[in-house]
Amino acid sequence: MAVTSATPRALELARTLVGFNTVSANSNLALIHCLRDELARLGVPCRLSWNAERTKANLFATLGEGKPAGLILSGHTDTVPWDGQDWSVDPLGGVVRDGRLYGRGSADMKGFIATAVTHAPLFLEADLPFAIHLAFSYDEEVGCFGVRELIADLREAGIAPLACIVGEPTGMVPAVAHKGVYRYRCCVRGKEAHSSLTPRSVNAIELAARVVGRVRDMAEAFEREEPRYEGFDVPFSTASVGQFHGGIADNVVPRDAEFRYEFRDLPTADARAMQQQVVAYARSLEPAMQAVAPETGIRFETICEIPSFLGSAEDAVTRLALRLAGEQHTTLVAFGTEAGLFKDAGIRSVVCGPGSIAQAHQPDEYVTLEQLMRCQAFMEGLARVREIA
Ligand SMILES: [Zn+2]
Repeated sequence: MAVTSATPRALELARTLVGFNTVSANSNLALIHCLRDELARLGVPCRLSWNAERTKANLFATLGEGKPAGLILSGHTDTVPWDGQDWSVDPLGGVVRDGRLYGRGSADMKGFIATAVTHAPLFLEADLPFAIHLAFSYDEEVGCFGVRELIADLREAGIAPLACIVGEPTGMVPAVAHKGVYRYRCCVRGKEAHSSLTPRSVNAIELAARVVGRVRDMAEAFEREEPRYEGFDVPFSTASVGQFHGGIADNVVPRDAEFRYEFRDLPTADARAMQQQVVAYARSLEPAMQAVAPETGIRFETICEIPSFLGSAEDAVTRLALRLAGEQHTTLVAFGTEAGLFKDAGIRSVVCGPGSIAQAHQPDEYVTLEQLMRCQAFMEGLARVREIA
């Protein structure tokens, strides 16, 4: 495809955005205000929707107010941290070197956000027959929490976009599927005792281990029995336990144990049903525990539930993204995105953005200027589109 000239404005804005420390634990408001001011200069108002503490906001803006059938360009503003990583450049420095923009969030996904915002004047001038919406969320990296508020806010306001392009780094190849990510914490409350008196105790670690074993059995069953979904590196659902804590001393039967685990379910599988199996198994253990000590039990907490995503190569938005990206074929991605949440809200979605996930979350994260230029060409093409339905 034709790659147009370098993009000093998009690159400059991407460097500015990289300079804001928007690690998920921090406020993203400085970055959001920067984008809001950028859009205000074009006369475009922004809707902000907030977290409970009002320390973080989503930004939603409409270019072409009142036009039907809007297309969302979506990105998350937060990044993962870089503690303990060995960087050769300042993660916030926005260093441009050897045809690459370096920095935390350069690929994931401030390069895309900057390119989209930089093309707002073009979208306005182009007088498109449909609206372009910009949707930039908080807290994606910790469980896609912000975008849920954003989607709820749109529903309340009666804004019903037709389609969405999620600009996660896919190397500008449209992706139409990913697995879900469902994480839970299991907390076992037993009854402590001197370890010479085990019949009067309920050993929390041993009970937790049984539940862990159940998760492991399920993982083996997925590998053995689940219908394959070709295209994924691991073409079946996975389950794994990531952390386990319990016990205080060798001679004390432990009262408490907890572990954290996750399911990554295929788009054709059902993580909630998987979790229900684990809970049902835990419930089956409780009568024996409570016969010894009624206060014992097993409790579950949800850490995050990011639904899998399954679009379609036949969707208008996918065909549009293929055309604008100059690609023939769609791909799948191994990571979770907000696309499943948009899709579940009735908004046809595709994932397509500059940079590679191989560089995301890594030390010396970068996006190549070539990828940013391809993203720019995508946006320029979008400004010439006459219909998306
Ligand atoms: Zn991302």
